[in-house]
Amino acid sequence: RTDGEAILELDGLTKTFGAFAAIDDVSMTVERGEFRSVIGPNGAGKTTLFNLISGALPVTEGTVYFDGEEITDRSPPERVARGIGRSFQISNVFGGLSVRENIRLAAQADRRSEYNLLESFFKPTNRYEEINAETGRILERIDLTHVAEEEADALAYGDRRRLEIGVVLATDPDLVLFDEPTAGMSVEETRETIDLIEEVLVDQTLLLIEHDIELVMELSDRITVLNRGEILAEGTPEEIAENRDVQDAYLGG
Ligand code: ADP
Repeated sequence: RTDGEAILELDGLTKTFGAFAAIDDVSMTVERGEFRSVIGPNGAGKTTLFNLISGALPVTEGTVYFDGEEITDRSPPERVARGIGRSFQISNVFGGLSVRENIRLAAQADRRSEYNLLESFFKPTNRYEEINAETGRILERIDLTHVAEEEADALAYGDRRRLEIGVVLATDPDLVLFDEPTAGMSVEETRETIDLIEEVLVDQTLLLIEHDIELVMELSDRITVLNRGEILAEGTPEEIAENRDVQDAYLGG
């Protein structure tokens, strides 16, 4: 589903903590529409890399480009407004609100809302109807219409995951960073969650940190392997599986 156009480019990215380089001269390009996984042992720098992309951490050196523009010094909210969506490791769901209210809130706060300010000022009802319609579409898409009026806290586990993905979708991102969305899940729950992400976020570019290698191999368009802050290998699942360095350093032969 890629079209060869770069959506995210990292050029010579370095992040040091004191004398220690958690990310060391990393350059990589992610194409629009791609499903890219970032793997590597604990401490490899995966979360740090995501924090540099989202703007949660300032870079020490190097440049971040998104959608053809440099965003290296942009704040996290500015990056969200440009279309970099947050993962749901930090849950965006309000437990006391209904499923519908959660989706509606996210749709209202979507990144394009600032561009619609004038329009929503002069035609508030138009925006209201538009958001209601969008909310309904998203509820259908995540298959939660039947529990739309229930409190988020009352949802079964799997439905809660659906809602979290729906909230991400409602903010209308171009790129979504998923930092271990399946942490603490069983193998089956992990599979269902990743399948759902792939099924629902079809128009988005996905960047995923995931420990389940089998799943990563099955679903990714390309994989970036980090080791000690550096890119050890990058390629299709087939290329990564055959890579000697990866086998030695990470997959244990
Ligand atoms: P991963 O996500 O691949 O497990 P991290 O990005 O969390 O790796 O961490 C990479 C390295 O950077 C680790 O050695 C970690 O201890 C170190 N590190 C991460 N954040 C900080 C910080 N705020 N201060 C000091 N060291 C850090």
